[in-house]
Amino acid sequence: MSERWWNGGIAGAHLRRDMSRTIGITTAERIATGLVEDQKLVGKLRIHQEDPEAEPLLSTPPVGIAQTIAHEITAVAAGTGVTAIGIGMPGIIQDCIIQDSPNLRQLKGVNMRKLIEEALHEDGITAPVYVFNDADVVAAGLAATHGHLDRFTRVWTLGHGIGFGLYPSRPGIWEGGHVVVSLDPRERYCGCGGVGHLEGIMGHRAMRLRFLDMEPDEIFENARKRDQRCVEFVKLWHRALAAATANSIHLAGPGKFFISGFNAKHLDLNLLHQYVHEMVKMSPLQNYVFEVAPSTDENAVIGAAVSAAQSVAVAPA
Ligand SMILES: [Zn+2]
Repeated sequence: MSERWWNGGIAGAHLRRDMSRTIGITTAERIATGLVEDQKLVGKLRIHQEDPEAEPLLSTPPVGIAQTIAHEITAVAAGTGVTAIGIGMPGIIQDCIIQDSPNLRQLKGVNMRKLIEEALHEDGITAPVYVFNDADVVAAGLAATHGHLDRFTRVWTLGHGIGFGLYPSRPGIWEGGHVVVSLDPRERYCGCGGVGHLEGIMGHRAMRLRFLDMEPDEIFENARKRDQRCVEFVKLWHRALAAATANSIHLAGPGKFFISGFNAKHLDLNLLHQYVHEMVKMSPLQNYVFEVAPSTDENAVIGAAVSAAQSVAVAPA
């Protein structure tokens, strides 16, 4: 698949883009759905309003989640034809099946594509559904909105967990948030339970577990006031991202790294550059660039839709 993707997929997607009306959906912070044409949002995003009385959607069984997502798609399609539907969801996703999702455990092993397609058929929508990793759709959205659809793009999403997204997608697992950046056996705050993981240092949930007496925003605030424990942690936080990025550069090469997510606001790009520079010394690998990008539902929705359009373009007829 990867060869076709690289050699023919992107060009094919460009050839067909004029006729492609696709729907993108993100489930990262909340469910947002939008109609996308020529890599741009048409009209407004539809934001799913959860009933405060009801059980939170993402703790309901998979069929309930699929029905809710299908309902949002049907509302956005509003009776007009769409060529494909793309959905970003958290976890390890292979061929639209959720292999594991530490934050949505009930979805493990679920064929989400099949469930959503079945729910859509009841509404008369037969367009193919594609399910992607939620960080990958952020990478695709950033590539699309920055005019980089012909380039390899990576993104770190710094939120409750740590996501790592790639565009264009490559075969593999790419759980960059769980790469090991510390050999200290006491580093065990990752949501997946693994020791020494990037998310165990940088994740919002992990920071709360580490500093039971302060919120993440206060940690960074106190570091600015020279609280030594916080100063040391903020260094570790940046070194962890530098290490994970250096690992990615040594494996997949240099290039553009976006940094997104609500905790990207704490990033000191000069400090990050300094640490990466200490870790990456071989001259062919020096050509890397960081850019902080605000995380928006719109970007992820565009990315999901663009990825779906490209999947249709490379799918066997
Ligand atoms: Zn982990």
